[in-house]
Amino acid sequence: MDIIHLLPDSVANQIAAGEVIQRPASCLKELVENSLDAGATRVQVIVRDAGRTLLQVIDNGIGMSEMDARLAFERHATSKIREAQDLFSLRTMGFRGEALASICAVAQVEMTTRRAEDETGTLIEIHGSDVVRQEVCSCPVGTNIKVSNLFFNVPVRRKFLKSDQTELRNLLTEFYHIVLVYPKVAFTFVHNDEIVLELPAGTEKQRIEAVFGNPKRNVYTSNFVDVNTETDLVSIRGFVIKPESATRKAEQYFFVNGRYMRHPYFLKAVQNAYSGMLTADYQPSFFIYFDINPEAIDVNIHPTKTEIKFADEQTIFQILMASVREALGKFTLAPQIDFDTTGNIDIPLPSDRPVERPQVNVDPHYNPFHTRGAIYPDRQQPVKGWESLYEGLSSTQKNPSTPNIDSAPMWQHGRYIFLSADEGLLLIHPHRAHAAVLYAQFMEQLAHAQGAMQQLLFPEVLSLQPDGMILLEQILPDLRTIGFELEQLSPDSYSIQGVPAQIVNQSPIPVLEDILHQVRTCGASTQEQWRKQIAASLAEQAAIPSGKTLTDSEMRDIVTRLMALPNYRRTADGKTIVSLVTDEELSKRFA
Ligand code: ADP
Ligand code: MG
Repeated sequence: MDIIHLLPDSVANQIAAGEVIQRPASCLKELVENSLDAGATRVQVIVRDAGRTLLQVIDNGIGMSEMDARLAFERHATSKIREAQDLFSLRTMGFRGEALASICAVAQVEMTTRRAEDETGTLIEIHGSDVVRQEVCSCPVGTNIKVSNLFFNVPVRRKFLKSDQTELRNLLTEFYHIVLVYPKVAFTFVHNDEIVLELPAGTEKQRIEAVFGNPKRNVYTSNFVDVNTETDLVSIRGFVIKPESATRKAEQYFFVNGRYMRHPYFLKAVQNAYSGMLTADYQPSFFIYFDINPEAIDVNIHPTKTEIKFADEQTIFQILMASVREALGKFTLAPQIDFDTTGNIDIPLPSDRPVERPQVNVDPHYNPFHTRGAIYPDRQQPVKGWESLYEGLSSTQKNPSTPNIDSAPMWQHGRYIFLSADEGLLLIHPHRAHAAVLYAQFMEQLAHAQGAMQQLLFPEVLSLQPDGMILLEQILPDLRTIGFELEQLSPDSYSIQGVPAQIVNQSPIPVLEDILHQVRTCGASTQEQWRKQIAASLAEQAAIPSGKTLTDSEMRDIVTRLMALPNYRRTADGKTIVSLVTDEELSKRFA
């Protein structure tokens, strides 16, 4: 006897529903997205018992014909794409034609709908995929869909729902994701007969304020600055919070082509842009809207996933960070000079560490470049090999307009070094300056296999997950070049016996973990890419901490070394290292 048979549609739909409709919030998302795809300008959401008993969405969109009303609940029934090619130019929110089929498989659905050109509307009632009623009715233009007793026929799902409070929070979260990209559409959200949100049509700012501008959320748009960048690849608009208004708990929203997305890598770009501006554990709130050619993002995303893959993430990372930075720069008092930077937009450096990094014992004679023994008092062995690298870089390679660093007045105020130069006052960020110097140095060492290793007295053990092991193996030759001495101990661990001389006073495990993290998150796949990540991570970790008080000779040393670099004004990821306040600007202040 043959034992294979095709599943009835109702069962197939119920299985599919498990993927698309996991909880009331996913159902709400699908319904509201349909209303928006139908061009609605007003959407009402009515919920009972956090969506368990009732989820109703009423819109004034284009409605459906009698035939379409019936077809809409079939699997793979959609009006939004016709052929595979359409997938690459998608601008609607839905396209799979799965949502209504899935919803009606696991709930009792009643829908009335009418198009403007029709005199009468259609009422259709479906219980667990069975059409129980379809008739002509009188109703307003648009669609009114009522989903009752969600998961009435899937007790397991019902059981897995969380408390009403949690499910309501999930509903609202989904709702926010949508309403924030459709400010021109009016929304209401009613729960158990109480109006939770009443959002009139308006601008993006008004919408943000309407959703979050209450004492509980405390997000007021007057605390934000605009971000606005237009490039061939992507347009980035939105609002980012002024650093002094940041809080511990932030509202962080990315949208792409009218769709909410999570994007940990881009989040890092925003955080990087704020580096040094926020108190430890404070997070920037932001609402950032990307617009990009749909062909440059992966549309074949799972309906419940909010992560989106971009074709050119590294470039967008750079653009995003630069635009947030620019937005913050416009607002801060510090003068921002746009130096002419050529070709130094590059792989990002890891983010700045919190301002006060307890790292080195303060030593008044500490010179980051010469007095190695003072930085690493517990290491007696002299370090050879790396100081000589900079011997060759002398005044001949300095930028012609740089002051004579040996004699120019130089002092530290707060976190910055000030230097009197011919064109005005130079402001220098010591941590970034030092990191830039070290970055160049590490890149040199990698290119010429000149790393300097320092043996550890007590080897340490680095344990890794399988993917970490693979990654480590891939970059192992370069890690060895730069000065790590690593021996595999077991299938999931390495013993660290030596480290690059420059980081000898740091605990080696986090240093290596950070390198692996950077290589992984930046998706570095070529040697050139991961070398940059290795160098950037090490430089960041080895650089003097921000805010450290420097002696005169330390300052001069950093500045001399910095100005010997070809691109000394900005870091590899576009952050300002040196800023110039011209004499003209100074005199304006006294005008
Ligand atoms: P998808 O949105 O992926 O096309 P759905 O199952 O969500 O699939 O909806 C199927 C079809 O039903 C849609 O393509 C659309 O034509 C129609 N539809 C659904 N909801 C509405 C609505 N609120 N107004 C008008 N048409 C709708
Ligand atoms: Mg849909």
